[in-house]
Amino acid sequence: GRIITVAQQKGGSGKTTLAVNLAICLHRMGHSVALVDTDPQGSMGRWFIERMEARGEDEALDFSTSSAWGASYESEKLKKRFDFVIVDTPPKIDSDLRPALRVADLVIVPVATSHVDLWATEGVLDLARREKSPVMVVLNRVRPNTRLAAEVAEKAAELGAMVADTQIANRVAYAETLGQGLGVAEHARNGAARDEMDTLTAEMLATMA
Ligand code: ADP
Ligand code: MG
Repeated sequence: GRIITVAQQKGGSGKTTLAVNLAICLHRMGHSVALVDTDPQGSMGRWFIERMEARGEDEALDFSTSSAWGASYESEKLKKRFDFVIVDTPPKIDSDLRPALRVADLVIVPVATSHVDLWATEGVLDLARREKSPVMVVLNRVRPNTRLAAEVAEKAAELGAMVADTQIANRVAYAETLGQGLGVAEHARNGAARDEMDTLTAEMLATMA
């Protein structure tokens, strides 16, 4: 299997949101997915509990927690059994993050689209570079028809990062489905959200191919 780590020092950038939505898109494509939460805040675990209550057990979707330091051991172990391992991380940047970055086939870095959020991104980009792991920056919470997304994307590219062509819009569906233990793709009324997540997933897979 492949390991994807979602990291960004800024809280609220959409790490957990992207992690679970990528997991659901991969799962819907028929892949088995193991989620690993290394954030003591445990949002991903809460999402998973909601999901279990709504949908019951699912052998193709696994959840476990790990310390930051245990992340590489844990995900190497899981990748023997699952097609994808997705590691969620806490909103901070220090050497504890290194194992989760080192082990990743791809590091996804969500940026809530603003200049301030992009400035906060330099740390994780540096750390990932030192661990020699490829990075894909994803612009999240984009407001349609504003110049800001194009500006932030351009600045992100100047930092030397690969920036996903697919941008994720600011949509209440993301907040709503997170609380229900769902991915946006499972929410009947949200075709646009599902389409952008599917496109992002395809782009991510192409990057890792
Ligand atoms: P992080 O894990 O980086 O701290 P979260 O994924 O928990 O960030 O997101 C923080 C909050 O922002 C959550 O309430 C989440 O539902 C909301 N959110 C994240 N991405 C989006 C989006 N694209 N549109 C609307 N709300 C979003
Ligand atoms: Mg989180």
